[in-house]
This record gives sequence, structure tokens and C-alpha cells, in this order.
Amino acid sequence: MPVGPGECVFCEIVGGRGRAEVLHRDEMVTAFRDVRPKAPVHVLVIPNEHIESVAELEEDHGPLLGRMIRVANEVARSQGIADGGYRLVINRGRHGGQTVYHLHLHLLGGRRMGWPPG
Ligand code: AMP
Repeated sequence: MPVGPGECVFCEIVGGRGRAEVLHRDEMVTAFRDVRPKAPVHVLVIPNEHIESVAELEEDHGPLLGRMIRVANEVARSQGIADGGYRLVINRGRHGGQTVYHLHLHLLGGRRMGWPPG
């Protein structure tokens, strides 16, 4: 169920109020470990701005999306999974498996991923 910025668990983490292991923070994005990891390395990269999902991205969000991907690549390197490879995933909506309605990029690695995804 979509929620407003005031009741968003990821906005709490951006604001430093939520409990999370933050690996990267800058003026545009925050990266922190997923609380229920689906792989040995499972990190979420989110915009600091509350954007509900990938479907709400506009043309001028290009630099933000670029930053999210670059930070995911940097975290992959710093977590030691860059050489083995990793997967970047954005879930959108109910059928896409989205459960938190604040845009997030999943960085998953440290094991071989299956394909197709379930
Ligand atoms: P999605 O299902 O694509 O919306 O992904 C949401 C992800 O957020 C899931 O993998 C959850 O385990 C993760 N998650 C939910 N709440 C928290 C939290 N407070 N801190 C870290 N990760 C969370």
C-alpha cells in the first residue's frame, strides 16, 4: 500500500531516525543493508527524495538514477562482489514484488543468481 513521506520507513532511514546499517550517504542517495537479505550481499540504494516507485521517474531524474547505479557499483566493489558479478533489481507494484513504496535499487551478490527470477 503506497504511503506518504511522513510514514515511510525508508524516509526515516534517510533522516537518520530509522535503524539501518548505512554503507553510503550523499546529498542524493543513501545505501544500506537490507534487513532480510536474499543474498550474502544485499544492499538497497534509495533516493533521499521520497519517490514512490520507478514509475514516477521523470526525465529530469536522469542524474539521480545515474547516481543510484554508480553508488551500487561502488558498493559492489567495496563489498568485494564486483569481480564475481552481481544483480541490480527494481521491483515495481504488486506483480513486480514491490513491498516498500519508496523507490529502491536492490544490489544482490555473493552467490550465483538464478534466471528467470521467481
Ligand atoms: P521490495 O520488495 O522490492 O519493495 O523491497 C523492499 C525491501 O526492503 C525488502 O527486501 C525488505 O527486506 C527491505 N526492508 C524493509 N524494511 C527495511 C528496513 N527497515 N531496513 C532495511 N531493509 C528493509
